[in-house]
Amino acid sequence: MTQAVIAIHGGAGTITRAAMDANREREYIAALEHVLLAGQRVLAEGGSALDAVTEAVRLLEDCPLFNAGKGAVLTHAGTYELDAAVMDGATLNAGAVACVKRLRNPVLAARAVLERSEHVLFAAEGAEAFAEAQGLELVTPDYYFTQARQEQWERARASAGMALLDHDAAALAAMAKKEEPIDPDRKFGTVGAVACDANGNLAAATSTGGVTNKQVGRVGDTPVVGAGCYADDVAAVSATGTGEMFIRTVAAHDVAAQIRYAGLSLEESARRVVMEKLPAIGGRGGLIAVDRDGNVTLPFNTEGMYRGVARVGEPVSVLIYG
Ligand code: ASP
Repeated sequence: MTQAVIAIHGGAGTITRAAMDANREREYIAALEHVLLAGQRVLAEGGSALDAVTEAVRLLEDCPLFNAGKGAVLTHAGTYELDAAVMDGATLNAGAVACVKRLRNPVLAARAVLERSEHVLFAAEGAEAFAEAQGLELVTPDYYFTQARQEQWERARASAGMALLDHDAAALAAMAKKEEPIDPDRKFGTVGAVACDANGNLAAATSTGGVTNKQVGRVGDTPVVGAGCYADDVAAVSATGTGEMFIRTVAAHDVAAQIRYAGLSLEESARRVVMEKLPAIGGRGGLIAVDRDGNVTLPFNTEGMYRGVARVGEPVSVLIYG
């Protein structure tokens, strides 16, 4: 029997102690602890890794502090478009939804796709229709609203608007190539969870509103199996950061692949992806990963990442800064 463990993240980015006020910090810590305890409970009661990560991400989606579900960031058009994925390492079953605008919990839709559909990835209206047919809760866009994200979007729009006015076609082309998504707070609040249950089975789940001021229809790494979310029988991985680079490096899958093919440890494999391969193409962010022996690693190449680990039978641990 493996000692079951769950790890979670609430996004990486420019999260510094200096910029954080004490109340806000307490709120984040309490929220992360609450989610970890819930995930730990699922595992302690003999639940599967898949159930634990689904429940953890559902709770993170419901928490307005994080960029997923309630509290999601806005697109360039001021709308919300959410992505989520879940993967079961024991079976390689996966489910994902992209660009959904009316689902309270995209991760539950991803889970329903995993369990009750012959397909892996549904987008937009089709994803919503599928989720509705499965009895999942629909919401109107105002459900996702938070004042903080609205202000963040307004700042992003203001700076992008100025840049657009100031630049000619060549500069526009250069901007289009710019690798960093426009996010004045340089924070990626995506959420995720990975777990190893008592049977040594692994699972991962990831959910996001994407990046602030993203183009309508843009899909990041989160719902792309192997990029922002992956689980097999060697590792389970959930990522956060500049999604385009995580797709291009197939980051989550690469963590597992280097263990399988090159014999790296979980920690060294994750380190190479986050500290070498992603930065080589301008990728910022981090990931959480667990292997079937219950080892956990939580690397990031930004100033901070909201993160935590809970082993069954042990106190939970939450960290924010580097
Ligand atoms: N990776 C997410 C995306 O690109 C953003 C994030 O991690 O916050 O959509």
